[in-house]
Amino acid sequence: MHKHPRALGLAAHLSDDLTVADIAARRPVEPVTIVRPHAARRAARFFVEKFKGTSLYAVKANPSPDLIKILWDSGITHFDVASIAEVRLVASVAPAATLCFMHPVKAEEAIREAYAVHGVRTFSLDTIEELEKIMRATGDATDLTLCVRLRVSSEHAKLSLAAKFGAAPDETKELLFAARQAADALGICFHVGSQTMSPQAYIQALGRVRAAIVEAAVTVDVIDVGGGFPSVYPGMTPAPLEAYFDAIHAAFEELPVSYSAELWAEPGRALCAEYASLLVRVERRRGDQLYINDGAYGALFDAAHVGWRFPVNLVREPESDAKDLPFSFYGPTCDDIDHMAGPFLLPADTQPGDYIEIGMLGAYGCAMRTGFNGFTAGETIIMADEPMASLYAEVEAEPKRFSNVFTL
Ligand SMILES: *Cc1c(COP(=O)(O)O)cnc(C)c1O
Repeated sequence: MHKHPRALGLAAHLSDDLTVADIAARRPVEPVTIVRPHAARRAARFFVEKFKGTSLYAVKANPSPDLIKILWDSGITHFDVASIAEVRLVASVAPAATLCFMHPVKAEEAIREAYAVHGVRTFSLDTIEELEKIMRATGDATDLTLCVRLRVSSEHAKLSLAAKFGAAPDETKELLFAARQAADALGICFHVGSQTMSPQAYIQALGRVRAAIVEAAVTVDVIDVGGGFPSVYPGMTPAPLEAYFDAIHAAFEELPVSYSAELWAEPGRALCAEYASLLVRVERRRGDQLYINDGAYGALFDAAHVGWRFPVNLVREPESDAKDLPFSFYGPTCDDIDHMAGPFLLPADTQPGDYIEIGMLGAYGCAMRTGFNGFTAGETIIMADEPMASLYAEVEAEPKRFSNVFTL
């Protein structure tokens, strides 16, 4: 979890022209988390303005209270929470936010507290047992929005979410029918998998939703297309987000739902990937392996365990003019599995004492940190410069091309 920079006495460093090289020049011993609030704000505005529905921020992607506040202030009013701790967290940071408890398998005590104490009215489920649990825990409430989670394919996603949750086609009719009886508003939700590389995934999933609605012949009030919206990483450049939105809007229009049905999405990664990066130090070099001071038990879980590649940049002045080589990383703990295969392309003369910025760690990076073996994050610094990659910078820059500033 980030410590608030001001609490660390860093306010003096929050100048707009601070560079990552300035931070490296102070030779921090522990990994530095660099946060870029403007990047999260820009992503939130993009979803608020271009997605024709309600965007719920999936808190698990990055539960930083600062980030939750930034997203709330940028127009994100709904939050997808999955545990009672996330419910309490968002309720404390953004008390007026609408919380949706979208984990299909919840503790009954968690449902009870969410409903009675925090005003949560939206719950997801994928079994009759969970429906009964929700009704028990809420005292047979009549003001619930119940979202039935369907199992859909993850074939277009880099990280599957297809195995664990979601009602199978032969279970959905009975479940939709039962949920309809109990719910004030009935929703259908799904998750196409994280970092979904093609809008086709949502079209296919919404085809599955259509079949389920037709079969059960129920009135549906909410269609929730879940998360899965991509960010940009080395070797993974997705279609523009507008293409995803267009595909979803068109498929939603065709669904046999009530005239006033609402469209929801639950972006996690896409709202926060650009928010944070990490500045690490090289402690040792062995051939093409760099031993750095953060790793699999820190912010680089996905780099270690699912072979994710993140953009890297050697922060050295003057800049190295050596040609790039593929490196792998070892993290600081004593485990062999604290290893990130990459490849990470860095100048051939990268050496101990050098600092490397690892980008796009705002989603499922900082959120995954443990204190294993005594290695934790150092300070957090707010920056105003551009993230190492962006799906939104281009979009924002576009209008300038038509202004007289760039007239030839
Ligand atoms: C993880 C998760 C999300 C967010 O997924 P992203 O791929 O980060 O957009 C949304 N909804 C549910 C139910 C999730 O489990």
